[in-house]
Amino acid sequence: MVIEKNEKINKVNDALQILVLDDEQDMGEYVADVAKTMNFNCIATTNVTDFMANLHPNIQLIVLDLMMPDMDGIEILRFLKQQNCKSKIILMSGVDKRVLEIAEELANELNLFIGGHLLKPFRKAELENLLKNNMVNSPKTVVPHSYVSPLVITKNEFQLALDRNEFLVYYQPQIDLITNRVFGVEAVVRWQHPEYGLILPKSFISKAESFKLIEQLDWYVAKKALCDLQIIFEKYKSNLTLSLNASPYSLQNIKYPDMIIALATANGIDPKNITVEITESGLIQELSTALDIFTRLRMKNIKLSIDDFGTGYAMMQQLRHVPANELKIDKSFIKDMLAHENARIMTLKIIEMGHELGMKVLAEGVETVEQLEFLRANFCDRVQGYFYSRPISLSDLLKWLKCE
Ligand code: C2E
Ligand code: CA
Ligand code: CA
Repeated sequence: MVIEKNEKINKVNDALQILVLDDEQDMGEYVADVAKTMNFNCIATTNVTDFMANLHPNIQLIVLDLMMPDMDGIEILRFLKQQNCKSKIILMSGVDKRVLEIAEELANELNLFIGGHLLKPFRKAELENLLKNNMVNSPKTVVPHSYVSPLVITKNEFQLALDRNEFLVYYQPQIDLITNRVFGVEAVVRWQHPEYGLILPKSFISKAESFKLIEQLDWYVAKKALCDLQIIFEKYKSNLTLSLNASPYSLQNIKYPDMIIALATANGIDPKNITVEITESGLIQELSTALDIFTRLRMKNIKLSIDDFGTGYAMMQQLRHVPANELKIDKSFIKDMLAHENARIMTLKIIEMGHELGMKVLAEGVETVEQLEFLRANFCDRVQGYFYSRPISLSDLLKWLKCE
C-alpha cells in the first residue's frame, strides 16, 4: 500500500527525492513526515511493487527496511544493483546491529552507495542527521572508490603492452609501528595505456589471468622492482624489504623459488630483503605445489606474507601449514573496524592469531590517525595505507624517503 495519494504514484514523479520502503506503515509515514518537515519531497510505500514503480534516476535517497515479508532487503539490494542504482541508501532494521552491518558490507560489495543505517527504535535527531547528510552531497557526483569500468582488450593487445613495456611499477611504503619507520615497500603494477592513461590493476589482473599472461606480468614487475630496489639501496642507506605480489598462477610454477633467487642474485639483492605476498585463494588451488614452493622460498631466506587475510575461504585450516612471516589484514576490515563491531572483532582476532602463529601482523588500508592509533594500541606490528602514502613512482618514493 502507498501512503500518498494513489494518482501520484504510478506516474514518474520527477520532483520526488526520497523513497521509503517499510512494511510497517507507521514507520514509513513517520520517516516521510520528518523528511517533509525538512522540505524534501518524499513518499513511503509498504510494498515492493509500488517501490519499484516509483524508483527512477532522480531519487537521491532510498530508506529501506531490511525485513520485508514479500522480498527481503537483501533481495532488494540485489535488485537495486541490477537497476544500476546511484541513489544513496539508508538501511533500517529492528533486528540486531550485526545484521545491519553485514547488509551494509554486502551493499558496498555490490557498489551501491550506503548513506548509513538506523537501528529501530531510533531518535528523530538520528533520522534528521542522516537525511541532512545524505541530501547535501548529491549522490550523482560520487563515484565509488571500488568502481572500475570493464576494460575491453584482447590477448594480443595485452601481450603487445607487455612487449612495449607499458606497465609501471609503483611502491607503497610499509611502516613498523615499534620504530615508526619505513621498513619496506610493496610493489604494485599500473598500466600506462597510450589511449586510456593510467589504469589500476583491478581492471586488468583478471584479464591477464584469463589470457594466461599473469605469470609474465608478475615477472615483469619482479624484474623492474628488483632493479629499482638496487637504486633505492644506493640512495637510501638503510635496509628495506620489497614485497612482491605473486598470483596463484605464478605460484603453480615449481621453478618460482629458483627464478626469484636468480633474479635477486643478478641484481645484487640479498634474498632476506624480499617478501612474496600470496593470497588465500593461491593456497586453495594447488596446496601441495604451493606448500612445496613456500617451503623452498623460506629455505632460501625469502619471506612470505599472506595477503588480504580474512577475505578467502578455508584459510584457517591451511594457515598453520604455511611457513609465513607476515599476515596482512585485508583493508576491508580496517575501513570498517572503528564503526562496525564485527570488523573490529575480526581485526583484533587476526592480530592475536597472527602473533600466536609467530607472524608479524600488517594492517593495510590505514587512512586515518584514529585507525592508526587503534591498531597501535592493539599491538598490530606494521601498517600500510594512504595515511602515510599512496603507491607512488620510484622517483616520488625517493623523494618521500628524503633521498633526493
Ligand atoms: P593488494 O595486494 O591488496 O594491494 C593493496 C591495494 O590497496 C593497492 O591497490 C593499493 O593502492 C590499495 N591501498 C593501499 N592503501 C590503501 C588505503 O589506505 N585505502 C585504500 N582504499 N586502498 C589502499 P592497487 O594498486 O589498485 O592493487 C590492487 C590489487 O591488484 C592488489 O591488491 C593486488 O592484488 C593486485 N596487484 C597489484 N600489482 C600486482 C602484481 O604485480 N601482480 C599481481 N599478481 N597482482 C597485483
Ligand atoms: Ca599485496
Ligand atoms: Ca592486500
